[in-house]
Amino acid sequence: MIIIMEPNSTEAQAKKIVEFLKNNGFEIRFNQGQVHTVIDAIGDKTTVTPGRISGFDGVKEVKIIREPFRLASRDRKPDDTIIEFSNGVKIGGKNKPVTIAGPCSIEDYDGLLKAAIAAKETGCEFLRGGAFKPRTSPYDFQGHGEKALEYMRKAADETGLLTVSEIMDASDLDMMCNYVDVLQIGARNMQNFKLLQAVGKCNKPVILKRGLSSTIREFLLAAEHILYQGNPNVILCERGIRSFDSAFTRNVMDIASIPVIKRYSHLPIIIDPSHGTGQRYLIEPLAKAGLVVGADGVMIEIHHDPENALSDGKQSLPLSMFKEVMNNLNEFYKKNTP
Ligand code: PEP
Ligand code: MN
Repeated sequence: MIIIMEPNSTEAQAKKIVEFLKNNGFEIRFNQGQVHTVIDAIGDKTTVTPGRISGFDGVKEVKIIREPFRLASRDRKPDDTIIEFSNGVKIGGKNKPVTIAGPCSIEDYDGLLKAAIAAKETGCEFLRGGAFKPRTSPYDFQGHGEKALEYMRKAADETGLLTVSEIMDASDLDMMCNYVDVLQIGARNMQNFKLLQAVGKCNKPVILKRGLSSTIREFLLAAEHILYQGNPNVILCERGIRSFDSAFTRNVMDIASIPVIKRYSHLPIIIDPSHGTGQRYLIEPLAKAGLVVGADGVMIEIHHDPENALSDGKQSLPLSMFKEVMNNLNEFYKKNTP
């Protein structure tokens, strides 16, 4: 890290920092300019973080050179992480992008089965659906809990799909692992560090969704919490971020984050244009955009009767439209891969 001292800082203040860093194993290069003193410190930032140094008197700014997400970074692991499932499906690397489809919430078995059949018929690998729903209002549908997960497992086994569902509470972890192949951490819990640590302690693959207003660095640091606990099976999910204009789209679909993350991290990343845009007509073009910039998969909300869905009906594709979108995405993918 590089520490820039205030123009009016004293020699004693700089000396104190240098001593502190040296005692913590840092190698120091000291640069006394005409106005600023600059301290270049090379060492292990897990013992002394840049935040700690900014607390010293006389410090103007601390700049980091190496990204703080170490385990998630490509410097550390140049090869793409590939996550393989028991049925041979793989996410990441040069593998064919996967598709995860299903309702926002699991409402009843028959409806879910209809979605699962449509997902299987169109070549999806995963069935998604919420059993524990993080709703903004306490008066909105909160999910059917374990019963919903039973439905999900049954519908997925009947159709030959893998399952994805959101975990909201670490105390549900063991129970959920009996039903799901992938745990999802939702946008609202991206910085629920206790939850990240809990899923980090098991080996189940985790889809980590980008927080509503989080930066790419915060997103990768959230993944770092899971990796740090020993679970290497993290799949990132770009699902749009908040901005000032919500007149036409629910969120701003940050397409650029996909190639940025691919450049700086080895972790697979998928795109969720359903939550990213909140608009049915934008799902296909944004899914395509995600594939063009290197997404390892697409997550799409679908429903057999969107007008009566208990959550996110507006953005859920009715099954007929979903089949069309999937045909187009499959064609698009074939045309655009060598
Ligand atoms: C969801 O996937 O149903 C969901 C709630 O998504 P997000 O956390 O991205 O809002
Ligand atoms: Mn939803």
